[in-house]
Amino acid sequence: MPRPLEALVHLDALRHNLQIARERAPDARIWAVVKANAYGHGVERVYPGLRGADGFALLDLQEARKLRELDWRGPILLLEGAFDARDLEWCSRLNLWHVVHSEAQIDWLAHHKTEWPHRVFLKMNSGMNRLGFTPAAFRQAWTRLSALPQVDEVSLITHFSDADSDIGIARQLAVFQTHTADLPGERSLCNSAATLRHAQDPAVRGDWVRPGVMLYGASPDFPQHDADHWGLKPAMTLRSRLIAIQHVQAGETVGYGSRFVAPHAMRIGVVACGYADGYPRHAPDGTPVLVDGRRAPLAGRVSMDMLTVSLDGLPDAEVGSEVTLWGRGRRGGHLFIEEVATRSGTIGYELMCAVSPRVPFSVTDADGGL
Ligand SMILES: *Cc1c(COP(=O)(O)O)cnc(C)c1O
Repeated sequence: MPRPLEALVHLDALRHNLQIARERAPDARIWAVVKANAYGHGVERVYPGLRGADGFALLDLQEARKLRELDWRGPILLLEGAFDARDLEWCSRLNLWHVVHSEAQIDWLAHHKTEWPHRVFLKMNSGMNRLGFTPAAFRQAWTRLSALPQVDEVSLITHFSDADSDIGIARQLAVFQTHTADLPGERSLCNSAATLRHAQDPAVRGDWVRPGVMLYGASPDFPQHDADHWGLKPAMTLRSRLIAIQHVQAGETVGYGSRFVAPHAMRIGVVACGYADGYPRHAPDGTPVLVDGRRAPLAGRVSMDMLTVSLDGLPDAEVGSEVTLWGRGRRGGHLFIEEVATRSGTIGYELMCAVSPRVPFSVTDADGGL
């Protein structure tokens, strides 16, 4: 028998979450952000669930090529644009739209030979200080870009640093609006958090929104709001089984470093999933899993291939019982990846991207037998 650990990708959830993005930004078009191999889910696996989007946004040419091989003919946007001049060849060949955030990228375009002028998204650094032209340099970049025969249409893009928190987007929005007020072109501003929290304002919504993590069913502003609050459904379930049960006495310890000390005689379930599978090693005691759909707390350090949970209050749990590390469980239970992440000092994004290559994936159009 193969090791019982597996990851499921739920196409119904992807479609549903895409629809939530549409409802939040009704007259905007949607870039489904599928960078980092679709946040760890696999570009080819999520494609059937997200092909209702208006375009796909990512950063890797290989992934763009994969989408074209899957027969996606619509827009693809490279969120960081070209990394060198040769990348523009691929943009021409695969008909990729690309972000322009630096003078060097404009220079490469100016020297690029192409029969088909490119659609580009000129990026403003409106305050995040990662990529983009400063507001003061933006207009000159726009003028230079617009004059190039290699360029077809120039759109305007910026990225918010605090759309998920109460700091909010007001300051960056004002900067962007002030410095683009009289420029033509389509606009794109919103990631998931801005789409969910701020896109009711048409100026924020713009022409294209760029939701990523929400499509995979994680809340971008957890714990302030969870996925249920936003009506999102987890698109990934990581599940395994109990492969052993230990009976320990009060005072006995469990696992490396004897971190967990049994407060009383109890049963400990051993789960086939460890940090080599992408489960966070920093998860503290008490981090929940679902055993046959019921919550059970982690007890003891996560090791490479296994983790251990308290089976207190779960008398029916036995070897072979199903364990949900995150996502959907039996009896309609679900466990948000954000909750596991928060306990472990990280975010859902990181955990979904980190599921390791040794974990077999399958795709299901519903609940995968859950
Ligand atoms: C990753 C990314 C997004 C999507 O962000 P989420 O928080 O996952 O919605 C949008 N825009 C840009 C430029 C990005 O890099």
